Parts: sequence; structure tokens; C-alpha cells
Amino acid sequence: MDVKRRKFLKIAGLSAVAGLAAPSAFNLLLNKGEALATEGRSGAKSEAHGEKSGETSRQYGMVIDLERLQRSPGLAEKCIHACNTEHNIPQYNNPKDEIKWIWLDDYRHSFPEHSQYKKNTALAKLPVVLLCNHCAHPPCVRACPTKATFKNSDGVVMMDYHRCIGCRFCMAACPYGARSFNWRRPREKDANGKYKFFPDGVNPEFPMRMRGVVEKCNFCAKRTLAGRLPACVEACGDSKALVFGDINDPKSEISQVLKAKYTIQRKPAAGTEPSVFYII
Ligand code: SF4
Ligand code: SF4
Ligand code: SF4
Repeated sequence: MDVKRRKFLKIAGLSAVAGLAAPSAFNLLLNKGEALATEGRSGAKSEAHGEKSGETSRQYGMVIDLERLQRSPGLAEKCIHACNTEHNIPQYNNPKDEIKWIWLDDYRHSFPEHSQYKKNTALAKLPVVLLCNHCAHPPCVRACPTKATFKNSDGVVMMDYHRCIGCRFCMAACPYGARSFNWRRPREKDANGKYKFFPDGVNPEFPMRMRGVVEKCNFCAKRTLAGRLPACVEACGDSKALVFGDINDPKSEISQVLKAKYTIQRKPAAGTEPSVFYII
């Protein structure tokens, strides 16, 4: 950690302490963070989904069909692998240090508000693919004091690693555990000069992160800007297990799926309006 960064962290720490002693000043800091984030550096839009606010701007979203994923054993793991290699996600093999952008958990933990009473016991263990929900009302964005996390004009909640001071307010604010903190330095090399934590090599097109910053799924912003599908969606091939697109465009494939199928979102009571939907 360089001196400049250490100084920045110190200031942030003092701000947090001052915030505990003086809630109004702290709220001011958070509100400033929100205002800056929603102004955005990339033409960020209002945080609300178009349907509610009357906007017609883009909101990318994803539908995940758990039945289709189950029908093709290994497909979920293929999606995860595609994301990991595309985004240089280090593989520490240690849950304490784990960095995850897309991962698996069981149904019971993924949808704790859904009763399991008298239901098929297999449902509780059903593997569910999880990732950042790119919420319409993202509490992580509101909590960030440096606008390191912000919503872009596609409705995607992004990270600016250079602005992140590692305070982890965003992690505390996210109800979905969708953010990871870099406790370790991913670039460590072994005696032969090879990166230790990237068994499948490194993608030179995507930056490696540094110790002390937070990261998460970015809905493959770089790929979608180039007209490509997210890596996890592409890895699913023609299975349609993952469908990606603009949920504010009534003609998009994802909007058609959302109209035709019954879908659920994670923790709706949190009021964040996730843009990731599940077909069970
Ligand atoms: S899932 Fe969490 S990290 Fe992602 S936008 Fe919502 S609150 Fe933020
Ligand atoms: S840790 Fe989170 S809240 Fe803190 S600066 Fe980084 S992105 Fe913002
Ligand atoms: S959308 Fe992109 S960044 Fe997000 S989980 Fe899929 S591959 Fe990873």
C-alpha cells in the first residue's frame, strides 16, 4: 500500500469515527456520495427502474432458469469459470479470502424468505447461481463515500477500483453478499515467476485488482459495450439457462421471458429491486 493510499484510508477512517459521533455530518457525507454517484461519470441515470420513474433508459438485467441449469450438469460451473477467467478472479482455495463475482449456494440460503414447509426436500438443496443484482435502488451506491461504486447509464452498478478506499461500507450495505474484499495481493508470484492464484492464466484485457479494494460482477460492461453477451451467458450456449438484456425494452428477449414466466427475485422485502430474476 503506497503512502498516498494510506493517507486516504486514514482520512476515511477519521470521517467514519466522526460520523459515529455526529450522525448528521455522517449522513451528509453519505448523501454527498449518493449525489455524486447518481450524477455519474458515464451519464448515470436515476436509480429507479424505468417503469416506476417513467424513464425509457436502459436497465440491463438477467433471468436465470434454475430448471434449465439443472438439466445440464456442469453448466453452472462453466458459467462461473467463464467469469473467473474473463475477469482475473484469483483462486485462493480459502473461504476467508474468497473473491466471488458469480457463485453457487443452495435455494434455502438464496431465498430465505420462501417457506420450505411441506415442500419437496430437494428444493432446499437446489443449487442457485448468485451474482450482483444490479439493483434499481442499490444501497451499496448510497453507502459509498467516494463514488467508487456507481450506476452507469445501462443501469449497471460499477466499481472504480482507483477510487475505492476499502472502507467496506458498501459490503455492509449490500443485503446479498455480492461484494468481495481483497484481503490479499492477487499478483503474488511463485518461485518460477508464475502468478500463484490464476491456474488458468491471466486475461491481459482486464485489470488485476490490488489489496484493499472491493470488487463484484459488473455485468460484463466492457463486453456489452462491444455488443457481446456477458461471459457467463455466452458460456451457456443455446441452453437459454441465462438470458440477458434490457428489461426496460418491451421488445427485448428478456422482457418476453419476464412476461411469459413466473419469476422471483432475492430478498424483495429489502426494497432494492434486483434486476436479476429466477425461474424455479
Ligand atoms: S446486489 Fe448488492 S452490490 Fe449489487 S447492486 Fe444490489 S446492493 Fe449493490
Ligand atoms: S469499499 Fe465500498 S464503500 Fe468503501 S470506497 Fe470502496 S466501493 Fe466505496
Ligand atoms: S455478467 Fe459478467 S461479470 Fe457478471 S457474473 Fe456474468 S460473467 Fe461475471
